[in-house]
Amino acid sequence: MKNADVIIVGGGIIGCATAYNLAQKGIQVTVIEREEIGAGGSSRNGGGVRQSARDMREMPLALYSVRNLWPGLSDELGMDVEYVQKGNLRLGKTPAHMKRLDDIVQQGKSVGLGLDVLSQEEVKEVCPYVSDE
Ligand SMILES: Cc1cc2nc3c(=O)[nH]c(=O)nc-3n(C[C@H](O)[C@H](O)[C@H](O)COP(=O)(O)OP(=O)(O)OC[C@H]3O[C@@H](n4cnc5c(N)ncnc54)[C@H](O)[C@@H]3O)c2cc1C
Repeated sequence: MKNADVIIVGGGIIGCATAYNLAQKGIQVTVIEREEIGAGGSSRNGGGVRQSARDMREMPLALYSVRNLWPGLSDELGMDVEYVQKGNLRLGKTPAHMKRLDDIVQQGKSVGLGLDVLSQEEVKEVCPYVSDE
């Protein structure tokens, strides 16, 4: 650790990706993790690479990574990270849900994401097996 140029606290995806990219530039990095690598949200998530409904502070990285990092990551790492771009469908049932979805769409549009609120019929076209409820 004494030889590290950079010490990163936390071995989640952010800490590990930062360490990887610094190491690629020849910088000596040490990652300090209190449990084990990936012990936090990074090993518990749904596996979606999501841009929408993020904290606005995360948006620049989310947008950049979908455009520039994820598409070439399997080739770069020499392993299949199972990344595919398919979009994201969020469902709402109540007026409160719909308000939340409207807010997500407005937020996404403000940073250039192609989001829309779909009618029930349009949702069925995208995903015919969604319940009528
Ligand atoms: C249930 C769930 C589902 C999710 N689904 C999605 C999804 O489908 N798509 C999506 O884009 N995002 C999803 N997310 C969010 C995504 O997982 C997180 O945004 C991302 O994993 C955060 O990565 P991170 O490296 O910042 O944090 P973490 O992965 O939480 O890593 C932080 C690490 O720091 C360590 N640490 C903390 N404090 C210290 C300390 N003092 N000393 C040493 N180590 C420390 C922790 O042990 C942990 O390993 C989901 C999150 C959850 C919880």
